[in-house]
Amino acid sequence: MNLKNILCGLFLFAWLMGPLPSPVRASEYHGPNAPGIAIDIGHSKAKFGAVSARGVGEYWFNEQFARLLLAELHARGLKNAFIVETRGRDVDLIERAKIANQRKPALLLSIHHDSVQPHYLSAWEYQGQERQYSDHFEGFSLFVSYKRPDPHQSLALARLIGAELISHGFSPTMHHAENIPGESRELLDEPLGIYRFDDLIILKYSASPAVLFECGILVNRKEEAMLTNPKRRGKMVQCLADAIDSYLGTLVPNGQDDLIYDLKKCIW
Ligand SMILES: [Zn+2]
Repeated sequence: MNLKNILCGLFLFAWLMGPLPSPVRASEYHGPNAPGIAIDIGHSKAKFGAVSARGVGEYWFNEQFARLLLAELHARGLKNAFIVETRGRDVDLIERAKIANQRKPALLLSIHHDSVQPHYLSAWEYQGQERQYSDHFEGFSLFVSYKRPDPHQSLALARLIGAELISHGFSPTMHHAENIPGESRELLDEPLGIYRFDDLIILKYSASPAVLFECGILVNRKEEAMLTNPKRRGKMVQCLADAIDSYLGTLVPNGQDDLIYDLKKCIW
């Protein structure tokens, strides 16, 4: 067979196979068929998590960010995005995962704001009150559990989020990898700030790919102020929504049914 015949054969084959399926953007899915996105607001009103350098509980940062993200996803047509516990009640983490699983979301994202180990904290006075702060570290981080049926899907989602954030000027913190009690987390992707944390309950018990996102470090005085800056926070929300959109686009070329994660595969 000469070269001309080989080339003709290749063209014929390509023509018969038709065009390659183009990736589907999740934002093309609107209304009742839009894939579900579970957003978990880390902690509760009663057990509010970390305390910021100015004395504000983490829950309120998480709630504001989660609600902005929800609004952004809805605005993009992802109408089935939902917050797992909307009233800030103290719902057990396994129960939260179960509530999310019932709605068969395409993914779960748990929103948090970070702190540091106690020995890094110092005292300062803010509005007449003594508060604790640490300006040693700053930046976001992402966590993935490998005690799941689909760790690589969760890691893929985390990578998309990390890449969006980096490309928009955000930086990850490396302090969770420090070899000290309470940290020593394995870095799965250092440039993107992704750590492995197998026993994070909500990630472990989520039936869909799941990532925990720490937006930044609340005890860092400068970063606390940046985390409440509407423009910067809006940019971060856009990064997450873009990453979610890209992630869904990788899942849906064969139709909506592929988004429904098989609950029976979830064995712990
Ligand atoms: Zn937290």
